[in-house]
Amino acid sequence: MNTERLEEIKKQALEEHIPIIMDDTLAVITEKIQKEKKNLDTILEIGTAVGYSAICFTKLLAPNGRIDTIERDEERIAKAKENIRSVGVENQIRIYEGDAVEILPTLEQKYDMVFIDAAKGKYPLFFQEACRMLKKDGIIFADNVLYKGYVRSDYNKHKQRTAVRNLREFLAEIENKEIYQSEVLEVGDGLAIIQLRRN
Ligand code: SAH
Ligand code: MG
Repeated sequence: MNTERLEEIKKQALEEHIPIIMDDTLAVITEKIQKEKKNLDTILEIGTAVGYSAICFTKLLAPNGRIDTIERDEERIAKAKENIRSVGVENQIRIYEGDAVEILPTLEQKYDMVFIDAAKGKYPLFFQEACRMLKKDGIIFADNVLYKGYVRSDYNKHKQRTAVRNLREFLAEIENKEIYQSEVLEVGDGLAIIQLRRN
């Protein structure tokens, strides 16, 4: 991998206010995977943006591992393709182009890791699909779940109301201790980590 190029991609994304994964969040995910699972064969990402996090996640892959990532914004898809190629990881990342709400139900694969990082109002649905596709000992990470602190305050403004309500619904769901083992960290904009309890 061309790590110098990766730094340029990060810098450009930050300059253009594209909400890429924060360093601390990436560090937590990396540490968690390295501690528990070592190498992953399959990763699913919901929300590619310009490919930054997907490129970073290739470091978590086993030698023949693959990342599937979904993005609906055409301009970002074009940029992501360019970025992924320029770093030299195009053989490890496949971009699904379109709305994740429509694409997810068509996916048949199972994944070792799912990273949810797209429309906050859709987290309950994304999570349901992630669970369906998760391998038995797989792990789900969901970014931005505390949404600038709105989610755990009495925030009720009109503009983000649906997003906040649905994030609250998602956080309530993962609290179900009979089904999930979960934690929510205040790293970045809030990171949820969920594993399925084995019966
Ligand atoms: N994971 C990226 C950042 C993703 S930003 C990184 O850390 O580098 C969130 C992205 O999700 C945006 O580019 C947005 O266009 C996309 N998105 C939001 N809702 C979506 C949906 N329903 N389907 C597909 N992409 C979506
Ligand atoms: Mg994010």
